[in-house]
Amino acid sequence: MTARHGTSCVAAHVRNIPRSGIREFFDIVASQKDVISLGVGEPDFVTPWHIREAAIYALEQGRTTYTSNLGMPRLREAISVHIAEKFRVQYDPKEILIAVGVSEAMDLALRAIIDPGDEVIFHEPCYVSYSPSISLAHGVGVPVICRAEDGFAVRAEAIEKAITPKSKALILNFPTNPTGGTMTRAELEKIAELAIRHNLVVLTDEIYSELTFEGDHVSIASLPGMRERTIFLHGFSKAYAMTGFRIGYACAPLELTEAMMRIHQYSMLCASIISQEAALEAIQHGEPDTIEMRDQYKLRRNFIVNALNSMGLSCHRPRGSFYAFPSITSTGLTSKQFAVGLLEEEKVACVPGSAFGACGEGFVRCCFATSLPQIEQAMERMARFVQRRSKAGVQAA
Ligand code: PLP
Repeated sequence: MTARHGTSCVAAHVRNIPRSGIREFFDIVASQKDVISLGVGEPDFVTPWHIREAAIYALEQGRTTYTSNLGMPRLREAISVHIAEKFRVQYDPKEILIAVGVSEAMDLALRAIIDPGDEVIFHEPCYVSYSPSISLAHGVGVPVICRAEDGFAVRAEAIEKAITPKSKALILNFPTNPTGGTMTRAELEKIAELAIRHNLVVLTDEIYSELTFEGDHVSIASLPGMRERTIFLHGFSKAYAMTGFRIGYACAPLELTEAMMRIHQYSMLCASIISQEAALEAIQHGEPDTIEMRDQYKLRRNFIVNALNSMGLSCHRPRGSFYAFPSITSTGLTSKQFAVGLLEEEKVACVPGSAFGACGEGFVRCCFATSLPQIEQAMERMARFVQRRSKAGVQAA
């Protein structure tokens, strides 16, 4: 069935959602052989064995049922303790909802708070799902640009300029995908003051928090006056290398948790019990694994940022996440031309910056959740490509 009264039967707000720039690009990558991928934002580590074992044990024990809609009480209690200790903010287990990844938690949070036409401010370049998720919740996305010269932090002044009487919420994600941008406490305090003054709900996506290389990570939820207006979103995919388990969570004051739960219970019902058992093991005993992986990412970060800068691609030093976001403007190519050229000529995949918002043009995202030898080889190939392109540019001029 494609047509209804002469028009598409697909809802208008869905028709208008563009396909993910990443997906489109990785369809091309999948068709090529022997590619070194700095593309997909996924840990190259396998989930630590004791966490996998917990999932296997759950299966052995026949733990194959639904759980409560909010998720297993034991897991919510463990998350409550973990967040109080690591993020300095207290949530009762009743205020914690286990979701299918931060992806579902973000969708629930947006759907729970947005009335049609409400504006949601988010900082760009950003994770590909924010803008479409806002639209799917019938909201209006308002991007605020983060700049390389600010270390890709978002400025409170820029947010203030974007605020209108229709502004309902603000999405923050630090450390940021795709830039590795981070925020200081002082910068977050200015944003908290704005959120309180303009009565904004803040959705903070903390998925890369544990992968902070320098300085302390501060969550805006922990600042005075913020807990009551913040939805704290976090998950297991990145810090514990558990992308395939699909477990995340949302913490918020009871009224908001209840609202999210009403959507979740009728759409998802609950997250997989097997994955919840694995997540419980991760949060209780997985910290040494996270620290080990973070230290590996840091070594790779040091190498890749130096290599990119040495080949003439100016690259800010990310203080968190596993992404480098170098400028490719010196090559005279668009980010898509750069990524496609690099893939075709040197078999290295990176993601065009434009996939993360219009202001990502002129950059590419290089994910360093790949082994150091692979990164070294990728950098050699990329340097060759950049040198060739720079020569071609000089000759054309
Ligand atoms: N938020 C950000 C900033 C991400 O980068 C990603 C995945 O790349 C997600 C959320 C999705 O995470 P999950 O696997 O928990 O759904």
